[in-house]
Amino acid sequence: MPRRTVLVVEDEPEIAGVIRQYLERDGYRVAVCGDGAQALAEYGRLRPDLVLLDVLLPGMDGYEVCRHIRAHGRTPVIMLTARDEEHDKLTGLALGADDYITKPFSPREVVARVRAVLRRAGNGGDTVLPRLRVHDLEIDAERHVVRRGGETVALTPTEFKLLAVLAGSPGRAFTRLQLIDQVQGFAFEGYERTIDAHVKNLRQKLEPDPRRPRYMLTVHGIGYRLAEESDG
Ligand code: CA
Repeated sequence: MPRRTVLVVEDEPEIAGVIRQYLERDGYRVAVCGDGAQALAEYGRLRPDLVLLDVLLPGMDGYEVCRHIRAHGRTPVIMLTARDEEHDKLTGLALGADDYITKPFSPREVVARVRAVLRRAGNGGDTVLPRLRVHDLEIDAERHVVRRGGETVALTPTEFKLLAVLAGSPGRAFTRLQLIDQVQGFAFEGYERTIDAHVKNLRQKLEPDPRRPRYMLTVHGIGYRLAEESDG
C-alpha cells in the first residue's frame, strides 16, 4: 500500500514535532505548516490523504482553512481544538470536519484517530450494504453514491458512513453511542453530541426541508433511524 500523506497544520513547533514523530513512526508521510495560508498552498500542492488542523492559528484560523478545504473536496479533516468547549467542537463538525481532538492529547490518540478516519474514508469499509431506495433517496454503498431525486449528493466520508450504518437496518432506531461506535470505531460518552452535528449536516444535504426531516428521523429518547417506504 502506498504511504499516506498527512498535512499537519499547527503553529506550535513542539506539538507539531511530536505529532510528526509519531505519525512517521506509524508509516505516514508528514508535512507540517504553521499558518493557514501556507496550509492551503501545501494542500493544493501535496493533495494529502488527511489534514490535521489546529483551530487557533496566526492569521486565517483553522475553521477558515477547513471551509476552504471543504469547498474543494472531501479530504478527511481532524480538528485540533485547544478549548474543551462544546461550541468549538461542533463548529468544526458543522463545517464538515470528520473528527476533532481536544488538547492536551496524547500523540498515540492522534495516531489512532488518523488511522480510524482514514479507514472509514477508504473504499475498503467493513459495512456491506445493499442498494437501498427510500422515496426519492437512493443509496448505493458499493459505488459510494447517494442521490436524491436523481441528483448526486456530495457527502464527506463520515456523513456517508453514518448514512450507510442507518441504511444497513432501515427503520431500526440507533442510539447516539451505537452510531458513534459504528462510525468512528470507538465510543466515548462525551462525543455523543458529535452525531447530532453530523445528522444536522446530512439533513441539510438530503432533506427537502431540514426542519421537517423525511429521511433522517429523530427517535425521541433514543437517537436516530432512517425512514422506510412505509413511513410515507
Ligand atoms: Ca495553535
